[in-house]
Formats: sequence, C-alpha cells, structure tokens
Amino acid sequence: MRIDILTLFPEMCEAVMSESIIGRARKNGKVEINFHQIREFAINKHNQVDDTPYGGGAGMLMMAQPIYDCYMKVCNEAQAKPHFIYMSPCGKTLTQERVKELSQMPNIAILCGRYEGVDQRLLDEIVDEEISIGDYVVTGGEMPAMILADAVSRMLPGVLAEPEGYMGESHYSGLLEYPQYTKPPVWHGVEVPQVLTSGHHANIQKWQREKALERTLERRPDLLEKAELSKKDKEYLETIKSK
Ligand code: SAH
Repeated sequence: MRIDILTLFPEMCEAVMSESIIGRARKNGKVEINFHQIREFAINKHNQVDDTPYGGGAGMLMMAQPIYDCYMKVCNEAQAKPHFIYMSPCGKTLTQERVKELSQMPNIAILCGRYEGVDQRLLDEIVDEEISIGDYVVTGGEMPAMILADAVSRMLPGVLAEPEGYMGESHYSGLLEYPQYTKPPVWHGVEVPQVLTSGHHANIQKWQREKALERTLERRPDLLEKAELSKKDKEYLETIKSK
C-alpha cells in the first residue's frame, strides 16, 4: 500500500514514522509512506501558502492552489488518483472499522491542515472524505494524519510480528481488550491471575473473553450493541449484570 501525506511539516512526520513498528514496515517494503512539502508549490515571492479568510474572522486559511498542485504531483507519481482524505474536526470520527476498510485500498493520500483550515473550494473539488480523530481540536493535521497512517499500516500483511496480533485487540472484534500481565509473577504483592499461569488453554481463553466482556460492559456499554456476541457471551453478560 502507498500512503502520501501532504503537509507543511514533512520533517516532523518523517521523524515519527521512522521509528519502531512503522519504521521497520517502511524499511521492509510492507508499506510505502511519502511526505510532500506543500510550500514547494507556492507560486508567490515569499512562498506564502495561507491568507486571511473572506468575511473576516480570526486566523489564516490555507490557500487552494499550492495544495492542488501538490496533490497533482502525487497523482502523477502514484500513476493513479489516490483516495484523498482531509484530516478535520468536521469529519466523521475515525473507527477501527473504517481503518480496516482503508487498509484495503492500494493508495491513499492525506492532507494535513494548519491555521484555521483550508479554502472550501479545494475541499469540494478534490477531497473524497474528511476524517476526525475525535471531538476536540489540535493545532494541525499532522498528528491526526500520523494516527490514521499508523492505524492503517498496522493492518497490512507482515507489519505486525504475529498476524493474529490485532484480532483480540480493543475494537477489532467490537470489544475492549482483556487485561494482560507479564513477569514477574508477583509485583507489589499482587499476583498474576492464576488461570493465566495454569497452562490450560481453554480456561485461559474463556477467562480472557469474560474479562473483555466485563470491561466493555463497565467502560463502553455502547460497544456491546454492535459487537458480535455468542449465546454464551450474552449469558455471561446477564449473570454479571444481575450481580
Ligand atoms: N478552524 C477549524 C480547526 C482548525 S485546526 C475548525 O474549527 O474546524 C487546524 C487543523 O488541524 C485542521 O485543518 C485539521 O487538519 C487539524 N485538526 C484539528 N483538530 C482535528 C481533529 N479533531 N481531527 C482531525 N484533524 C484535526
């Protein structure tokens, strides 16, 4: 998969996306992530990419032309029109389900806004989708774009060490993940739950499923409405609800 990121701060993004799992995946060719400096496409003397909004109001807006020209270069390079996403607090909130769908696409491009945002005409003409990372505002689209690119990349084959790595994780199956423990077996006087050291695989799986159900019921009961639940799951939920 190829991901192109259009930004005024490519170095910041490059630094983040060169470390750890995503950095390794890029080196090993599991995902190609490229960063493009929008400012290179400014056509005025001072390489200006923003201007004051019509109608007044605080702050500056990113102009359409440099972003458009940058996007055209990306289309040429990729030899296809990527699915073009604008990170925006006005977009639909990102979910694991959407992450999964996006990871099936061969080619996405992500626009990072700055200042007060972007000229609406540019968004209307070339953006396919606006995505928000949550109901709050940050100062730029770079961190939201990193979140999206990271979440999508880790779904690609060969990126996580164990392919089933994400299957039991929070949100993948519609539930939150069960609690996990590592060495030592006793820490600050607290023992690891005995079932986990029993070596009894079926009991361990049952315990983990029940803990995931308990935690989801306690913290995010809204998720249970959409989750795929077996008859056993439902029975277990009923017993803990009636406690
Ligand atoms: N004036 C805008 C906010 C601009 S914040 C408004 O009220 O909607 C500057 C940039 O940060 C945006 O263009 C966007 O790219 C990014 N951004 C801020 N909050 C975000 C969020 N919750 N999700 C995704 N991107 C966000």
